[in-house]
Amino acid sequence: MTTDFDLIVIGGGSGGLAAAQRAAEYGARVVLVESGRLGGTCVNVGCVPKKVMWNAAQLAHALHDAPEYGFSLTAGGHDWPTLKAKRDAYIERLNGIYERNLGNRKVQLVRGWARLVAPGEVDVDGQRLRAPRVLLAPGGRPRRLTVPGGELALDSDGFFELPQRPARVLVVGGGYIAVELAGVFAALGSEVSLLSRGAQVLRGFDALLVEGLEESLQQSGITRVIGAEPAALRRDELGVHVTLSDGRVLAPVDCVITAIGRDPLSQCIDASLGVTLDAAGHVLVDEWQQTNVPGVLAIGDVTGQAPLTPVAIAAGRRLADRLWGGMTDRKLDYHTIPTVVFSHPPIGTVGLSEAQARELHGDAVQVFTSTFVPMYHAMTTAKPKTRMKLVCVGPDRKVVGVHIMGGGADEMLQGFAVAVRMGATKRDFDDTVALHPTSAEELVTMR
Ligand code: FAD
Ligand code: NDP
Repeated sequence: MTTDFDLIVIGGGSGGLAAAQRAAEYGARVVLVESGRLGGTCVNVGCVPKKVMWNAAQLAHALHDAPEYGFSLTAGGHDWPTLKAKRDAYIERLNGIYERNLGNRKVQLVRGWARLVAPGEVDVDGQRLRAPRVLLAPGGRPRRLTVPGGELALDSDGFFELPQRPARVLVVGGGYIAVELAGVFAALGSEVSLLSRGAQVLRGFDALLVEGLEESLQQSGITRVIGAEPAALRRDELGVHVTLSDGRVLAPVDCVITAIGRDPLSQCIDASLGVTLDAAGHVLVDEWQQTNVPGVLAIGDVTGQAPLTPVAIAAGRRLADRLWGGMTDRKLDYHTIPTVVFSHPPIGTVGLSEAQARELHGDAVQVFTSTFVPMYHAMTTAKPKTRMKLVCVGPDRKVVGVHIMGGGADEMLQGFAVAVRMGATKRDFDDTVALHPTSAEELVTMR
């Protein structure tokens, strides 16, 4: 088959852009198809606008603490529409930068809805593109609440469209997004309830972090509702009323936001191709990001593998390195992926939780924990604690998990993730001279 391209990429989000550009840098002829805004979820309705909102919430906390450091402040409200306008303008600038970056690398951009109709053949609203390789990077979208009145709830995409901050909010879910958005609303002044069907948020995270987060949610005035799912929503002049699966009816709110997971956008694959999907619709791939159909590859959220931006980017770049950069054994190692939850304070975690380590290694596990009030709060009335845990295994006490919750955890973790990946032992941590006075020094002085 004669083709105009070496690679067709479906989706101009974190993974697709990274793969397309890296492949083009090696000289591959690449076309990328995007149906929405360049940058995908992360740039438009994910990490980036979320971090702007988290920064605003951090500032709210700092302003609250400022009088305790001797500042006299005149109380003033937060102007949500102004921040939203600046945030939207920033993202529009990023959209433009991404488009220029593609042009600079000679990646052809096609706007439209792509559909993989045959191996090596993609239809974009009637236009046919052909290449020996097609990379699926269409990401996912928020899962909808399918209960009566579910349409009254917003999802995380809707959060970013809110023109004003609602005064009373119910956030539904116990994962990353629910925790992060609840924290933003609470810090900026909303009355917030957080409903999780489990007894605690962040299932699967180390217990020290989960307990710490539950404590900090309560301290920030968030009402926790646990042990049920929404069963029905209705709106009247008082607001939105939510009836739960156990019959409880919650006080009316101005806004319900659901963050109950995301569904993969694998509808871009014609069923006749026989690409194997899991029950949730994720595209199944092997360690080389290869699907069961030759020439059809997939990366990022659509594969269901650690749905995080740097993971999609790393998978895309490594794939291009392998296929066009001559690095024949290059692939992404999905173990020990660090991750941060932008709660207040933030959480940083890498490797095994204590429970996971004990399940795998039994009595060979040794744990070091430190819980303390960081020096910043020596001056404040509130005394939130920072929590840290090292999970070690075996006689040489290899560090297989680092878990941090506290101010600066988000920036602290990256370097420790390098150490864990390199196989550092507790002795390596002990032999590293501390930085003082910081919270991070606790990680190298634990006994
Ligand atoms: P996406 O970024 O979703 O890109 C897919 C692109 O494909 C989209 O632009 C879409 O329009 C396009 N597309 C889909 N189907 C088609 C089609 N048929 N034809 C053409 N184009 C198509 N991760 C982090 O690491 N840190 C964070 O702080 C973080 N915060 C987040 C906050 C929120 C609220 C959300 C929702 C997610 C967050 N994430 C975060 C996750 C992160 O955004 C995703 O893991 C990442 O964007 C996945 O990249 P991707 O390339 O797989 O898909
Ligand atoms: P998560 O998978 O993190 O969490 C989904 C949550 O929704 C879980 O607590 C789940 O409960 C709950 N849930 C599922 N169905 C229902 C239901 N019907 N009623 C009530 N609760 C329900 O998904 P998110 O949507 O929060 O985020 C998607 C992904 O995006 C994350 O997994 C993460 O990878 C990425 N992300 C990363 C961020 C970061 O890096 N800081 C920030 C935001 C998102 P249960 O635990 O009981 O299953």
